[in-house]
Amino acid sequence: HDYTKEDIRRIVKEEDVKFLRLMFTDVLGSLKNVEVPISQLDELLDNKLMFDGSSIEGFVRIEESDMYLHPDLSTWMIFPWSTERGKIARVICEVYKPNGEPFEGDPRNNLIRVLQDMKKAGFSSFNIGPEPEFFLFKMDENGKPTTNLNDQGSYFDMAPLDLGGNCRREIVLTLEEMGFDVEAAHHEVAPGQHEIDFKYADALNAADNIQTFKLVVKTIARKYGLFATFMPKPLSGINGSGMHLNMSLFNDDGDVFYDEDGDLKLSETAYHFLGGLMKHAKSYTAICNPLVNSYKRLVPGYEAPVYVAWSGSNRSPLIRVPNARGLATRLELRSADASANPYLAIAAVLEAGLDGLKNGIVPPKSVDRNIYRMDAEERKENQIVNLPDDLLDALKELSSDEVMKRAMGEKIFNSYLAAKHLEYNAYRAQVSDWERDQYMEKY
Ligand code: ADP
Ligand code: MG
Ligand code: MG
Ligand code: MG
Ligand code: MG
Repeated sequence: HDYTKEDIRRIVKEEDVKFLRLMFTDVLGSLKNVEVPISQLDELLDNKLMFDGSSIEGFVRIEESDMYLHPDLSTWMIFPWSTERGKIARVICEVYKPNGEPFEGDPRNNLIRVLQDMKKAGFSSFNIGPEPEFFLFKMDENGKPTTNLNDQGSYFDMAPLDLGGNCRREIVLTLEEMGFDVEAAHHEVAPGQHEIDFKYADALNAADNIQTFKLVVKTIARKYGLFATFMPKPLSGINGSGMHLNMSLFNDDGDVFYDEDGDLKLSETAYHFLGGLMKHAKSYTAICNPLVNSYKRLVPGYEAPVYVAWSGSNRSPLIRVPNARGLATRLELRSADASANPYLAIAAVLEAGLDGLKNGIVPPKSVDRNIYRMDAEERKENQIVNLPDDLLDALKELSSDEVMKRAMGEKIFNSYLAAKHLEYNAYRAQVSDWERDQYMEKY
């Protein structure tokens, strides 16, 4: 919606909105919000609302403590769940410095910057269709998540096996009330695991939608006494949760990845974009798979990709070209998971693709056989390399890629690498049950 300030003032009166929730996302992907009473509406609409940025992850320097929130009025929305104290509206904001410039450490500002480069390259939009998966766990009496799943269902199962069905249905209805175009909702392969797909949108809206989606899923699950998690691999031995990213580039004539006469009906632009995605795959992994735990999903045997390969016919590789053509011609990145900061992940894959266009990068041949049945020798012959196998490995790849530095901007690039190394080192210092089980008695 293209709301004006006047529209917002009118809606606030008509709907009797009592509180404003101002949202932005930090470098590590957490949605942050400042809640203010409606008396602050004029301040907000005049870009005068201030907050202390010094305590927010990635917004660390002292001189950055006074920050301004500039609302993006197109993201205005009244939460459909009511509170005793009246209605709450939210608006997503851009973080600005006291000197009036956009703050470079705000991942949303950064994506807006990268999208300007895309427009300069002659495209009108980068479209993202996400497929987020999540688990529903039972909660204990203190409202903490347990590791007990709420059902034993599997792919596309129906009630009564799929006890999450009622909860999932209310999530879908709530999303629709909030303007989402939900395309599908189904039980996933693992017990307690679900997927909800909503229609693709241009990059910025898609990233905002992903953040809103996670909030809605968690909020509604709680109403059902369930805990929703987007943690990539909550339980060993069963599938983890990913968030495939479907992507396409449009110009004023439509989907530029489509070419009636091209190989697989894909354009040269599609191949070069794919070439860029393949070339930088190892380095954007640290962004699309940001947690220590993300790498426990990227192992053989659980439908998640492990090798850098693409295919137009096979569902197992890192990048798949789904069958649909015309306006649905797209590339699907299957590694990403929903713990990624969507603003950074989308900026990273876009910059990788644009690098492919700029340098005419030709992708390696497609791999249409089952890679998991190849031995190391065969993979080598087919030029198939592994994705990074842990966060440290992924960070090494990221830190040496100039294109990814451009995708994040220097400030975010540096603070992201620093924060993630701290996370990895904290993990490395821990001793797990697995180690004690394996080693205690044997040595
Ligand atoms: P899968 O077959 O991998 O399970 P889904 O049907 O679950 O795929 O999801 C497909 C996603 O792709 C949806 O979010 C859909 O809106 C999106 N999509 C369709 N066309 C495009 C396009 N041109 N660009 C980007 N995403 C698209
Ligand atoms: Mg799907
Ligand atoms: Mg589907
Ligand atoms: Mg799925
Ligand atoms: Mg998919």
